Amino acid sequence: MRSARSKLKKRRRKAVLQELLDDTMTTLRAAIDSSHLEMHPVETGTVLYVGGGIARIAGLPNITSDELVEFPGGVLGVAINLEPDEIGVMLLGDSDELSAGTRVTATGREADTPVGEALLGRVIDATGRVLDGGKVLQSVERRPIEQAAPAIIDRSPVTEPLMTGIKAIDALIPIGRGQRELVVGDRQTGKTSVVVDTIINQRTTDVICIYCAIGQRGTAVARVIETLREHDALEYSIVVVASDEDPPGLRFVTPYAATTMAEYFREKGRDTLIIYDDLTRHARAYRELSLLLRRPPGREAYPGDIFYIHSRLLERATHLNEDCGGGSLTALPIIETHAQDISAYIPTNLISITDGQIYLSPTLFHKGLLPAIDVGKSVSRVGGKTQYPAFRDVSGDLRLAYSQFEELETFARFATRLDEDTRATIEHGRRVREVLKQSEQQPLPASSQIIILKAVNAGLLDKLPLELVGSAEAKLQERIQADFPQCCEQLQAGESLDDSEWEKILDSVQDVLSKLVESTED
Ligand code: ATP
Ligand code: MG
Repeated sequence: MRSARSKLKKRRRKAVLQELLDDTMTTLRAAIDSSHLEMHPVETGTVLYVGGGIARIAGLPNITSDELVEFPGGVLGVAINLEPDEIGVMLLGDSDELSAGTRVTATGREADTPVGEALLGRVIDATGRVLDGGKVLQSVERRPIEQAAPAIIDRSPVTEPLMTGIKAIDALIPIGRGQRELVVGDRQTGKTSVVVDTIINQRTTDVICIYCAIGQRGTAVARVIETLREHDALEYSIVVVASDEDPPGLRFVTPYAATTMAEYFREKGRDTLIIYDDLTRHARAYRELSLLLRRPPGREAYPGDIFYIHSRLLERATHLNEDCGGGSLTALPIIETHAQDISAYIPTNLISITDGQIYLSPTLFHKGLLPAIDVGKSVSRVGGKTQYPAFRDVSGDLRLAYSQFEELETFARFATRLDEDTRATIEHGRRVREVLKQSEQQPLPASSQIIILKAVNAGLLDKLPLELVGSAEAKLQERIQADFPQCCEQLQAGESLDDSEWEKILDSVQDVLSKLVESTED
C-alpha cells in the first residue's frame, strides 16, 4: 500500500519536473528565436599575394563586400573584389609585415569610422588613428563609412548662404548651405587657399568644417593645419588625412569616412561644410587599386565605375528638411586640371555631378590677380537664390561692369584711340577688378563686402589712382565700421538698408576718398 503511494508521488514529481523542463525549454527557444544575435563562426583565410596596397586572399567563403578583414598586427583591409576562389582586399595600413601564407580573419563588420564631438579640433585618419600626437580617441561611436544618400523626400531646397568671406565668390558665385560647388584649376593656382579661407570665415558662424586631405604631401597638410590653428579655426574643424605615403586603400576610403563624420553633426541639425582636397588624387587611388585587382580599365585607364564612386559621395551633401532636423552638408570638392583642360575625364564627371564650379586660372594667378577666380568660367547654379537681397543688389551691376570691361580690355589693346565712354568703362572695370582682389587668410564679413562693392558700383572709386584702391578699401572699412555700426550689423544679418542710409554711407565714403586723394597730392 505504502509502496504504491510512494510510486504515485514519484510519478507526480517526475511529471511536474518534466513540465518545468518543457516550460524552460520553450522560454529558452523563444528567447533564442527572438534575439538578433547571430553566431558568426570566426572565419580565417590565407594571403596568396600582397603588394602595392592590396592583398589577394583564399578562403573566407562567407565574406561580404566592404567587410573588414584583420591581419596579424592589427592591420585592417576592406574586401572589395569577391571572386569564386579568391577575394581582393585593399589594405588600410602598412603591408610590410604581411606575406603570402599569412592568416587573415574576417571581422563580420563593415568598414567604419569614429564620429562625435570628441573629433572636433583633431587630426585623424579614416580609421580613427590620431595623427596630432594628442590623446587616443576612446569610447567613441563608430559608424559605417558608406551611407545611403538622404532620400529626395527628406531634402529641402537650399535657402541659406554659406559665406566664404571672399568678395569674388560671395558676390558673383554665391554658395548656399547644402550645395556642392567644385573648385577647379591647374596646380598652384590657389585652390587650397580659397577653401581654407572659407573655413576661417566660419569662425563667426556655427558651421562645423571638415577638411579632408587626400594624397597630398605631408608638408602641405601641415601648412593647412597650422593656418587653421593660427586663426582659431581648428576648434570647430576636423582634419581627416590620407597622405601620399599612405596605401591607396586608405586614400580611397578617406572622403567617405570624412562624410560620415560630417553627417553625424548634420543629423543633429547642424550646418556642416566638407572639403575634399582633392578628388583627382582620390580617382587616381581608385585607378591604382582597380588595376592591381585586375579590373578592366576604361577611358584613361580608370575603371568603369569611376563616375559612380564620386556621385555616391557627393549625393550625400544636401540640406535636410525640418522633419529631419534641418541640418545641411555643403561640399567643396577640389579638382586639379592639367594645362587648363577642364574637358578631361574626371573634371567633366565632377562638373556634371556638382551644382557649379569656381574656376581658378593660372593666367590670372601669374598676373597677380588673386584670388585667381575666372568669373566668366565660374558658375553657381543654386546659391544665387540664397544671396542676401543687399548683396544681390550690388552683384548684378558688378557682373555687368566686369564682363563689359573684360570684353573691352581685349579689344582696347588693338585700338589706339578710344572714345570717352569706352575709356570710362575700362577705367571703371579696372577699379572693379582691383576691388575684387583679396589677400589670402583675410576673409571679410558680408557688411564690409557689400559696402565696398556698393561704393565701386556707384563709381566713387573711378577717380582714385589704381594703386590706391587697396589702401582706400582698408580705410573705408575702418571708418564705416566706426560711424555706422548699426547699419553694418543690419547688413551682416542679411537685412537691406534704405536709400537715405545708403546716401549717408556713400557720403562718408566720398569724404574718406577725397581726403586720401588730397593727402597723396600734397
Ligand atoms: P596645389 O596644386 O599645389 O595644391 P593650390 O592650387 O592648392 O596648389 P595654394 O597652395 O592654395 O594653391 O596656393 C598657391 C600659392 O599661392 C601659395 O603660396 C599661396 O600662398 C598663394 N596664394 C593663393 N591665394 C592667394 C591670395 N589670394 N593672395 C596671395 N597669395 C595667394
Ligand atoms: Mg592645394
